Amino acid sequence: MPFYTKAVSNSVRRSIFFCLSAMEETVELPSRLAILPFWNKVLLPGAVIRIRCTSPSSVKLVEHELWQKEKKGLIGVLPVKDSEGAAVGSLLSSGIGSDSWEQGRKGEPNATGGFHKQDAKKPRELTHWHSRGVAARALHLSREVEKPSGRVTYIVVLEGLSRFNVQELSARGKYYVANINGLDLSSAGQSEVIIPCKLTNRCSLLEQAEQDPDFISLSRQFKATAMELISLLEQKQKLEGKKRFLLDTIPVYRLADILVASFEISFEEQLSMLDSVNLKVRLSKAIELVDQHIQSIRVAEKITQKVEGQLSKSQREFLLKQQMRAIKEELGDNDDCEDDVAAVERKMQNAGMPPNIWKLAQRELRRLKKMQPQQPGYNSSCVYLELLADLPWRKVSEEPELDLKAAKVSLDRDHYGLLKVKQRIIEYLAVRKLKPDAQGPVLCFVGPPGVGKTSLASSIASALSKKFIRISLGGVKDEADIRGHRRTYIGSMPGRLIDGLKWYCSHGSKNGMDTNDTYLKHFIACQLLPSSATRVLLLQCCRFAISSSAKRVAVRNPVMLLDEIDKTGSDVRGDPASALLEVLDPEQNKTFNDHYLNVPFDLSKVTFVATANRVQPIPPPLLDRMEVIELLGYTPEEKLKIALKHLIPRVLEQHGLSSQFLQIPEGIVKLIIQRYTREAGVRNLERNLAALARAAAVKVAEKDFMVHLGKDNHPKTSLMNTRLVDTAEVEMEVIPLSVDSQGISNSFSSASVMIIDEAMLEKVLGPPRFDEKETADRVATPGIVVGLVWTTFGGDVQFIEATAMAGKGDLHLTGQLGDVIKESAHIALTWVRARAADLNLSTAGDHIGLLEKQDIHIHFPAGAVPKDGPSAGITLVTALVSLFSQRKVRADTAMTGEMTLKGLVLPVGGIKDKVLAANRYGIKRVILPERNSKDLAEVPSAILAGMEMLLVKRIEDVLEHAFEGASPSKPTSKL
Ligand code: ADP
Repeated sequence: MPFYTKAVSNSVRRSIFFCLSAMEETVELPSRLAILPFWNKVLLPGAVIRIRCTSPSSVKLVEHELWQKEKKGLIGVLPVKDSEGAAVGSLLSSGIGSDSWEQGRKGEPNATGGFHKQDAKKPRELTHWHSRGVAARALHLSREVEKPSGRVTYIVVLEGLSRFNVQELSARGKYYVANINGLDLSSAGQSEVIIPCKLTNRCSLLEQAEQDPDFISLSRQFKATAMELISLLEQKQKLEGKKRFLLDTIPVYRLADILVASFEISFEEQLSMLDSVNLKVRLSKAIELVDQHIQSIRVAEKITQKVEGQLSKSQREFLLKQQMRAIKEELGDNDDCEDDVAAVERKMQNAGMPPNIWKLAQRELRRLKKMQPQQPGYNSSCVYLELLADLPWRKVSEEPELDLKAAKVSLDRDHYGLLKVKQRIIEYLAVRKLKPDAQGPVLCFVGPPGVGKTSLASSIASALSKKFIRISLGGVKDEADIRGHRRTYIGSMPGRLIDGLKWYCSHGSKNGMDTNDTYLKHFIACQLLPSSATRVLLLQCCRFAISSSAKRVAVRNPVMLLDEIDKTGSDVRGDPASALLEVLDPEQNKTFNDHYLNVPFDLSKVTFVATANRVQPIPPPLLDRMEVIELLGYTPEEKLKIALKHLIPRVLEQHGLSSQFLQIPEGIVKLIIQRYTREAGVRNLERNLAALARAAAVKVAEKDFMVHLGKDNHPKTSLMNTRLVDTAEVEMEVIPLSVDSQGISNSFSSASVMIIDEAMLEKVLGPPRFDEKETADRVATPGIVVGLVWTTFGGDVQFIEATAMAGKGDLHLTGQLGDVIKESAHIALTWVRARAADLNLSTAGDHIGLLEKQDIHIHFPAGAVPKDGPSAGITLVTALVSLFSQRKVRADTAMTGEMTLKGLVLPVGGIKDKVLAANRYGIKRVILPERNSKDLAEVPSAILAGMEMLLVKRIEDVLEHAFEGASPSKPTSKL
């Protein structure tokens, strides 16, 4: 609680309390009073003060007038102003000394001595006596004799009684006396009239005043204001409303003095209150002052609330911080700011920074040390320094001499087929072996998803014995993602490349051995366990834990895979491709400047490899820096071999199984390929195999659980605890070696191996997603044709459906088609209408007849997938001809090719992928533009051997091949 408001409220309370008795009394003033000068202060009637009289004159006055008299004596208290300029009242005579005084309030400074000094220094001629004062009665007197000087002082408690006017001031010995006139009883209506203070006049004057309407309204207003003040004070001090009765018991003109006397107001205002002899003037003055006081209390209250609010907030924060510190201490996790800084400093010392970077880091560290942890910028500075310390400025991984043969073996071991790709990789490695610093082109593997691009890049890393980092660039549109944000931005961070290079140990442990080592230890121990399903699960847990707690790469010569480089885009936030240009340029990447790092970092030792689904979206300058190696999708036969040789063993191992527990026969793998996957790559195939492995793992684990229960040699919870896979450390006591493990292993060997059959396949993977007869079923009606398209997932089959209905000859196109494909549809319709007679679709020359009273609707199913491109030209024509001629198209035939308005078939892209897609769908015949014949060289001969490739020059040739039997066109129409 601030002193100010407390002091005010106390003083009000005290004044009101002391004055109560006096208000009831009637006081008759003598005509002569001893005068006590009151420097720069006013005693108002009703107020109580306590003064210490030390000057010889005042001591004499108190002694003669109060101390030595038996009756309660009266004295006059007259304000004296010591300011030379602003004299208030009349200059009656020169001063005669002053008294030090002390108000009876706690916390009020005692000005003892101050008045003496002033008095001593002040020329007597400049002391201004006010012409009006207040007669005061001593309520209490005490005498003190100072030792050893024997000097006498008095402490007097005085109560102001009523105003008087000084008529004449004269000296009596050491002090003054004055002839006075009483003033308090002037009439309410009169202007200031000095009336001798006779009690007989009093009642009549008051009665007169109380009937004056102005006085009545003023006293009401004053009472209301006084009530407001009292309520405010009561509310503040939470007192009961006892003070309100004062308003009814004390006359308003007295209450006005009492209230004003309790305020801390200026000397001038006090004087003007003293001079307000007229009751109406006094009341209006009091209303003004009380109102001012109410306002000041309210303002003070507001400020107090604000300060208290702030205080409590900071106190709460302090308290919470203390609690947090205590909790951390309890947990042994005492990472104080000092620890932070010390840890960063220690890290920095081991980072091997170049001298210029070291200087910069030191400067930043000095700044950090001067900061408080709560200060803005502390954290960002700490994180920045940690990044500097984590970056591998000098650290390189050892590069043993490259063994090309071993590299070849490892590539063959990990990947089936891909002969050309592997050959190119071996060439690349050979050049690096001969010239390790050779600035060869960056390899970029392009192909549909799941064809082994990423795993080839990781094989390159292992062949070079280098660490491998994968940076995903898919969806990166902001240059800052590559180059980092400047540190001035809030939430700034380094670019993906620098972030990928930095090292940190995600699960460090206190005893020096990191968690990874712990998992490894458990892993080795688990290997020693007898063969059982629990062992299998434990091994799996360890393997998972090891991979998830793996350290990040901390060398400056890793193989860095820039994955999905074709998926970067540019917008207002800049062009990531331009930043990548700098990264891939051997001349520029020596001093790669990340905006966050703000110091150059040498990327020249990093071996970059990129992957993309398509070449077209890669900006030409970037493509220029790379050597594109295309990977095709796989044929079903290749997929089968990949599955049997690579995927199944890998999946079994990943799930802690072996052929002892799970067998997936070749026939089943074929079914999975046919019925559950139709992708170019093998990712979905791998996923499906993994689903089977998971199902088998559950079965195996359940059996293991039954063995434990049956033998009662292990607590029931042990297997449950094997669910600790995610991050928990593997508890070795899950299977103690002392347990009869032989029994467990025997139980398992006796358990039959799980062989997947068709029923099991459907149970685990659900009903088949693709049907072999789908194509035949869908092309069963005229107007439906199988087209071939190219997507980012490789080639695919696209059915085109055309139908006619009653209408006005309009063409409706649906299936989220782009402008180019829409134009192809219009070209197709125009061509068909132009050749309607030749195609036996209408009578000769009747071009309109074909569309008379009917609309055509062409739909490209999978309506949610956007489609565009010109390669559907010949397919659209075939669909329309089939519709109008009501003849079915061959179900075993698919086609692709652009058509001109005159019926010429133009070459299109993505032939390999399209042929492979047709093969996956079981299509035997593919109609292709003749000029695409060169592209067939890229299609595996095994595929070509099983399919018929029909090369066409004109649309009439297409129609010839597409329909069962002969083309609908007349033999004469052939050009
Ligand atoms: P991509 O990067 O092209 O999308 P991945 O490299 O991630 O594909 O390959 C997906 C999975 O398929 C990996 O497990 C990979 O080992 C496997 N895979 C792909 N191609 C082959 C192949 N020719 N031989 C063996 N496994 C392959």
